[in-house]
Amino acid sequence: MRTIGLIGGMSFESTAVYYQMINEAVRTRLGGLHSARLVMHSVDFQDVVDLQKAGRWDAAAAHLGQAAQGLERAGADCVLICTNTMHLVADEVAEAVKIPLLNIIDETAKALSAAGVRRPLLLATRYTMEHGFYARRMAAHGLAMTTPGEAGRTVVHDVIFDELCAGVVRDESRAAFLDLIAKAKDEDGCDAVILGCTEICLLLDPEKLPLPGFDSTTIHANAAVDFALAGEMKAAAE
Ligand code: GLU
Repeated sequence: MRTIGLIGGMSFESTAVYYQMINEAVRTRLGGLHSARLVMHSVDFQDVVDLQKAGRWDAAAAHLGQAAQGLERAGADCVLICTNTMHLVADEVAEAVKIPLLNIIDETAKALSAAGVRRPLLLATRYTMEHGFYARRMAAHGLAMTTPGEAGRTVVHDVIFDELCAGVVRDESRAAFLDLIAKAKDEDGCDAVILGCTEICLLLDPEKLPLPGFDSTTIHANAAVDFALAGEMKAAAE
């Protein structure tokens, strides 16, 4: 089994989900009391939020790049940035290490393509929905996605930072998200929804939505397990 490296803490609410999902998947696939070989660098999220608000993406890239190098020194065989938003600097972080970075946008795009999705709705932070890095990377996979209008984007962004990252899950916010998804289906012709923020799975069950749900946390965690167990799965198949 290869060792998974996680850059977490953005927020710790979703990193806890990654940790649980990765370990459960390893135990399910290998049986017995197997669990993941894993090292984590968990940041102080307030530091990262301050850099985001100031638009200091170079400093954020350096911060996460150093974290990735620490994981590499600690024996990680791959690195995951456990947030969609900070994939804004994923290329810089990938360049800071020799081990591969498993990119959450690439993994999500692969899952969408495999399912034949044509027009997904993206729910994510304002940075992810508006900055362009996410849409460009999706486009490189031949996928065009759409986002809610300005008012809807504000709701989604504020719920992520004011509630989900703070450990607050409200029925009213769930209803607001479900309305946005239903509207995208009925008025914009969307055929799927990307839960493109790693905390949204705390609010929404991807199996119980008006459109087929693609949860970035689940997809990314499973990609890490596929990477870690590639050798075991190959041996089992032979
Ligand atoms: N975890 C969130 C995401 O997937 C937002 C937190 C952040 O700004 O990194 O985008």
